Amino acid sequence: MKSRLERFRQLLADAGVDAVVISQPENRRYLSGFTGSAGYLLVGPDFAVLATDFRYTEQAQQEAPDFEIWRIDGSLVPALRDLTRRRDVRRLGFEAHAVTYQTYREWSRYLRGRGVRLVPLRGLVEQLRARKDEEEIGRIRKAAEITDRALAAVLETLKYGMTERELAWQVERIMRELGADGLSFTPIVATGPNAARPHHRPSDRRLQPGDIILFDIGAGFDGYQSDLTRTFIFGRPEGKFLEVWRVVAEANEAARQAARPGVPAAEVDAAAREVIKAAGYGENFGHGVGHGVGLVVHEAPRLGPRSEDTLAAGMVFTIEPGIYLPGWGGVRTEDLVVLHDHEVEVISQAPKFPVLEV
Ligand code: ZN
Ligand code: ZN
Repeated sequence: MKSRLERFRQLLADAGVDAVVISQPENRRYLSGFTGSAGYLLVGPDFAVLATDFRYTEQAQQEAPDFEIWRIDGSLVPALRDLTRRRDVRRLGFEAHAVTYQTYREWSRYLRGRGVRLVPLRGLVEQLRARKDEEEIGRIRKAAEITDRALAAVLETLKYGMTERELAWQVERIMRELGADGLSFTPIVATGPNAARPHHRPSDRRLQPGDIILFDIGAGFDGYQSDLTRTFIFGRPEGKFLEVWRVVAEANEAARQAARPGVPAAEVDAAAREVIKAAGYGENFGHGVGHGVGLVVHEAPRLGPRSEDTLAAGMVFTIEPGIYLPGWGGVRTEDLVVLHDHEVEVISQAPKFPVLEV
């Protein structure tokens, strides 16, 4: 935690601010260790304050020993008053993506009178969060392992006639039983033509012979998330399914080969996209090839055609090309990977073979 705080402080001068208010929950947790759901960090070159309310003060003292704990009553204004009295703060950064307009107005009205300027910042902590340390990778591995095991267990329970909603509930229940502290997102279970929708919401559609079935699921462990997609088919697959499935597998492999430290994330996306385009399905792959995963299931880096991120060792992200054909169904294969100095390690261990017997 201390080294995270130090690295963060080094960014302040470049950002042109004397201090920063952190209000984004995962950023607050990342820098301080505090897991409570309300509060602000006030960080400057030689101070670190965690302001939170009565419900969390004891927890904050235990979890964030590097921070001075101030008790507030919802509004941050009294803490801003104390801070600006004690410290010479002229330019105070805030997270533009995590402060409501109403809160911004409240702070700026107070600070304007004291000659303090609020400076909007974006992605300062997120930039640090993109590269994981060993401890974080360990938690992500555990989250991914629970996810892999949950998928295997759900496949054991499959029967014709089960609905997508029943299957989604099985995923949820089993993940909890395996020790997940939450779900990374509501499980996506899409059968038959519903698999053409990348983010289908589980419905009452019943599983039928010959159906495609797509699971996109993730468990949380100790605050860290995971993300896994596998697509299966029941019984003897039609030729089209195997063709589409193979193209997606090749695209997944191409993206994995392209991912190296120093490579623009957009190039990894392009590697997968080329394979899909060459097979004639360019129009049917409408999302980016991947995204970072950590305290949040969608975080930096972004791996898409317009991404400006560059890959670096320690990044954990997904590789998830897909092909979606309205009226027919879709195939997506998503792995969670960690980038090392010289290679990509695939964290997801769930088998990929797509043909299931029921
Ligand atoms: Zn996913
Ligand atoms: Zn994903």
